[in-house]
Order: sequence, then C-alpha cells, then structure tokens
Amino acid sequence: MFNSLKGLVVTLVSTMNGLRSPVTRQYPNSGNLLKKHLEPTPVKDRFMGFPALTWDEEINEPYCTSCMVCIRGCPTQCMSAVMKDNPLYEQEKSSRRKIVDSFEINLNRCILCGICVEVCNFDAIVMTHEHEMSTSSRNGDRMNLPALLELGHKFQKETDWIPPTKRAKVVKEDATEVSKASADAEAS
Ligand code: SF4
Ligand code: SF4
Repeated sequence: MFNSLKGLVVTLVSTMNGLRSPVTRQYPNSGNLLKKHLEPTPVKDRFMGFPALTWDEEINEPYCTSCMVCIRGCPTQCMSAVMKDNPLYEQEKSSRRKIVDSFEINLNRCILCGICVEVCNFDAIVMTHEHEMSTSSRNGDRMNLPALLELGHKFQKETDWIPPTKRAKVVKEDATEVSKASADAEAS
C-alpha cells in the first residue's frame, strides 16, 4: 500500500515538473519566432571566449609589445606577431620601447585555454565574451591586428575593463591604508 502511494507521488511530481516552463533556451537563429527566444543567452562575467588585444586609452596605443611570450606558450601554435620600434617612445610619450607591428591569431585553432592571458606581463591580451564567430571560409577566423584590437576594445567597453596590474596595485594600496588605519586606531 505504502509503496503504491510512493509510486503515485513520484508520478505526480514528474507530471508537475513537466508542466513547468522549460529550463533550456532555443538558439537565436533556430527559426523560433517567439521574441523571448531570439535573444542570445547572456554569458557570465568570467566566461572565456576568444582572445583579443587591449588598447591603452591613456597613451593611445596597444598594450602589446610583441614580446612573443604568449606565442611561445600557446599550445596550438595559433598566434604570430612582429614587433617594431615605438615612435611614441622616441617622442617620450610612451614607456614602451617596442610595440606590436602585426599580430595574428587563427581562432579556428584556438582552444580558449587562456594561457596567453596568464603569461602576458603587459595586460595586453584578454579572453573576451565573444564565442559566435563561425564562418564558412577556411581562413575566415584568422584575426589580424586591427580586428583583434577592435574585439578587445569592445570587451574593454562592455566590461569597464581595468588592467589587472593596475587593479592589483589599487587593491594593495587599499589594504595598506586599511592596515595603517587599524594600527593608528590601536595606538590611540
Ligand atoms: S600579448 Fe602580451 S605576451 Fe603576447 S606578445 Fe603581446 S605583450 Fe607579449
Ligand atoms: S587561448 Fe590558448 S590556444 Fe587560444 S590563443 Fe591563447 S594560448 Fe593559444
């Protein structure tokens, strides 16, 4: 008797679950005309899409010095770059002696591992939120320097991006101020 009732409850719960609104979403281009299903699913802040290069708004030049560290670390060998002397360094407007001249990432081969971002010492590369970049041509996803900078600029704008080294410096300064304030409070 008890087992029969238990079975009925399980059936009832499953039926109720079936009546709930779906937890999955239609892909925007799947042909579903319902407006609410046409919006792409928003990604989380920490989502890692395709890599792109960042732009230094203060000096008005890329952060990338073309040092090749990320290129050597990339497991799929999908990046290449060439550096040049930085004309702004000679004019004493920039502290970057060298600057990127050309850069290419073959996004078809990128596995979104984020190693390039981890190893870059110059805040020059980010994992953006971009993930829908499929093309029908073989080399359609080879991104050159202007395209990578444009992608990076879009990401910087959308996320109010602060260079990680600058953010770490601000956090450190804040922590120093807090510990100084608490030491002063203890002393008084
Ligand atoms: S993105 Fe960073 S690590 Fe890669 S070449 Fe530019 S400065 Fe060097
Ligand atoms: S995310 Fe990984 S695979 Fe893609 S370019 Fe960076 S290091 Fe290479």
